[in-house]
Amino acid sequence: RSRISARVRRIKPSPSTAAADRASALKREGKSIVSLVVGEPDFDTPAHIRTAAVWAMEKGETRYTVLAGTLELRQAIVAKLKRENGLVYDPAEIVVTNGAKSAIYSALEATLEAGDEVIIPAPYWVSYPDMVLACEGIPKIVACPESQSFKISPAQLEAAISEKTRWLLINSPSNPTGASYSAAEYRGIAEVLARHPHVLVMTDDIYEHIRFDGESTPHLLNAAPELRERVLAINGVSKTYAMTGWRIGWIAGPADLVGALNTLLSQASGNACSISQAAAVAALTGDQSFVGETVATYRARRDRTLARINAIPGLSCRPPDGAFYLYVNCAGLIGRTTPAGTRLESDSDVVMYLLEAAGVAVVQGTAYGLSPFFRASIATSQAALDEGTDRIARAVAELH
Ligand code: PLP
Repeated sequence: RSRISARVRRIKPSPSTAAADRASALKREGKSIVSLVVGEPDFDTPAHIRTAAVWAMEKGETRYTVLAGTLELRQAIVAKLKRENGLVYDPAEIVVTNGAKSAIYSALEATLEAGDEVIIPAPYWVSYPDMVLACEGIPKIVACPESQSFKISPAQLEAAISEKTRWLLINSPSNPTGASYSAAEYRGIAEVLARHPHVLVMTDDIYEHIRFDGESTPHLLNAAPELRERVLAINGVSKTYAMTGWRIGWIAGPADLVGALNTLLSQASGNACSISQAAAVAALTGDQSFVGETVATYRARRDRTLARINAIPGLSCRPPDGAFYLYVNCAGLIGRTTPAGTRLESDSDVVMYLLEAAGVAVVQGTAYGLSPFFRASIATSQAALDEGTDRIARAVAELH
């Protein structure tokens, strides 16, 4: 039999990693490539956070911590949830993990039985369906078209729920579309959930601060506090504080679920890095001006790049409410022919054409479960974005 488990054989490596690898390989061959692939801030972690990590090392905070995370960090997370989200938690209801990614995976692993269903609105973050498959669950993908701003409607949710449904996964603002749910939309979702008490909700709040309308991101639990015992709220420092490499995420939720996670993580991974935890305390309790400054930069890039994309015949993009991606509709290019004589049949063909003919790397919408689109990251310099959009415009003009 295969040396590799069926669980792992069911899943595939992340398509955005594959796209980044393809772009790097072409770069190594000496081609000029503008990569709009990566989903991480292009800023350095702020100095006061780095200093806190150095101090932690100097003070000897280099040992195992409490599994759930240091009390100091869990208190800082509790204070953050109160201050920024109006949500009340106890440090005992928080578990710190190695990034939000492992928080989501561990939560699925701690709760899914084989055959349990997880409702995932599409477009979705590429990792969700594969995480569910790896935990022997069944991803129940619900297509949420651009005409409904890429968000799941109460009627769609109602139709997707079955006796086997264990989780609804909500990511707002969303990777890849930037769509964000309003409090009113959450109330519509909560009305459906009220009829189905067996359905739990995981909220992936990792992009909550990257917003372009000056509003704060509402949380499902603000609109529907009665769901508190059914919600796991997932977040982390990666995107807000440019700390992707530090690997600190967390889960806030009811005691039984958090207890199960503690048990699982005590055997599977142990505590998150002690030095990174000290840095995360500084991030959450220190000067927050970095957040506003970087969001202003993302906003300027979004506005300029969106206008340039929307000026290209055949492409269109809905303004994202947040996160740092443009999810570009390329339906207008499907059926067109490249100078080399290839007919573009899908968004994967479009993405391949842009890479080979224009040297611009983006990720095909198929990877996110809704076509025909491609995702372009704005977490890169304005000069690269200008060059990238110029190249896309020239390549599109050569289609017939
Ligand atoms: N959730 C979403 C929607 C993401 O886009 C990402 C990172 O790309 C993560 C979670 C993972 O964040 P972390 O770096 O905390 O694991």
